[in-house]
Amino acid sequence: MPGILSFDHLKTQVSEGTTDTVLVCAVDMQGRLIGKRFHAANFISHSYAETHCCNYLLATDLEMATPDGYASTSWEKGYGDYVMRPDLSTIRPVPWLEGTAMVMCDVLDHHTHAPVPHAPRAVLQKQIARLEAMGFTAKMATELEFFLFEKSFDDIRKSGFRDLAPISGYNEDYHIFQTTKEEGVMRPVRNHLFAAGIPVENTKGEAEAGQEELNIRYAAALDCADHHTIAKHAIKEIAWQQGHAASFLPKWDAGKVGSSSHVHQSLWQDGTPLFYDKGADLGMSDLMKHYMAGLIAFAPEYVFFLAPYVNSYKRFSKGTFAPTKTVWSVDNRTAGFRLCGDGTKGVRVECRIGGSDLNPYLAQAAMLAAGIKGIEDQMVLAAPTKGDVYEDAKAADIPQTLRAATDTLRGSQMLRAAMGDDVVDHYTRCAEWEQEEFDRAVTDWEIARGFERA
Ligand code: ADP
Repeated sequence: MPGILSFDHLKTQVSEGTTDTVLVCAVDMQGRLIGKRFHAANFISHSYAETHCCNYLLATDLEMATPDGYASTSWEKGYGDYVMRPDLSTIRPVPWLEGTAMVMCDVLDHHTHAPVPHAPRAVLQKQIARLEAMGFTAKMATELEFFLFEKSFDDIRKSGFRDLAPISGYNEDYHIFQTTKEEGVMRPVRNHLFAAGIPVENTKGEAEAGQEELNIRYAAALDCADHHTIAKHAIKEIAWQQGHAASFLPKWDAGKVGSSSHVHQSLWQDGTPLFYDKGADLGMSDLMKHYMAGLIAFAPEYVFFLAPYVNSYKRFSKGTFAPTKTVWSVDNRTAGFRLCGDGTKGVRVECRIGGSDLNPYLAQAAMLAAGIKGIEDQMVLAAPTKGDVYEDAKAADIPQTLRAATDTLRGSQMLRAAMGDDVVDHYTRCAEWEQEEFDRAVTDWEIARGFERA
């Protein structure tokens, strides 16, 4: 993979003085990069083997709170350490920062060095291993949508998040002229990510003023999740360097479309795409049909992993290209699941439910678990839905609130069997806490509605 550095290559760069800093990164429950900035000399001599972090990092929220109710870590247990073990196959340059490289880490128990089961990379690695035991590998692509704003994060925060002017003045879906005006941010995004070993396909304007999409070539599931996480981080940093904010909040304005992260999925064996059957209707193999049957049937149970915040559910709204129904359709953007590349070797399923706020490790793991169950039980795929799926009263709804999604997650026997009770309980607590925090908040909407008139 171009861009990926061997450990020896990194050592050479450090001795030549071209790299002086190594970002040693794990992924938190929210899908953010967390970790430490190492002096490169220390990293290549000592810390390449392991470093440490406080174990509250995998039991916190966007605000770094220390909620109660997590079995793995608490004030009572003293918030000890986890081991962060660099995965040396993921060393890459960070071309948008001077003299900097980075590495992704797995998170291990401090005493036993066993993987921490609820660490997002470990959650995905477990499902990949199950799939490999069946003789399959998954190839995935997560498209990333986001909005660029005129001002910086700091200026917007100082305005109380009220001064939210997007970088462009009109819907720029597929526009070349408007996106030319945004090349100050988007060209370095494409080129720096590509130089970091992330196979960028393209960026494009999306269906709102200031909305962008980044497409990365599909890859093995773990690589795909790493690519997504690094790309999201890079977009924020590169936009910040140019004095702009990039937001992945799925719905920042009730009157505008939201931002998604669609997930394209296919299974392979020794380089052969297993979802393709030349002689079958739409080119869909039986394996693909079973996988999709599981994916669709269990969607309500794993939707939390596609929509992890209260705000995520505001995106699911009719006529916005964000789905409301858990059915599939052939190349039809009104359904939760879209068949793409029908009749070709590239036949795949695109899940359109996920928002731009999803954690790609957890989202992919949950969908693989559902697909594996579909294959194991040879589940039967219903006929595709046709026409405007928003108006199909018979089609099942996506859970409409975080509260509903938390209930389906808590009760999911499929996810409990696939991921383990400890992991499902951990993320159920995460979902509950998010709702509890929201329930404690007094929102702008309540004040505007009731301040004078209540
Ligand atoms: P769209 O119409 O959704 O924009 P694209 O042709 O741009 O479709 O592809 C979207 C994503 O699907 C890209 O990231 C691409 O790499 C990925 N993709 C293509 N083929 C496959 C496949 N067989 N399995 C998984 N992802 C794939």
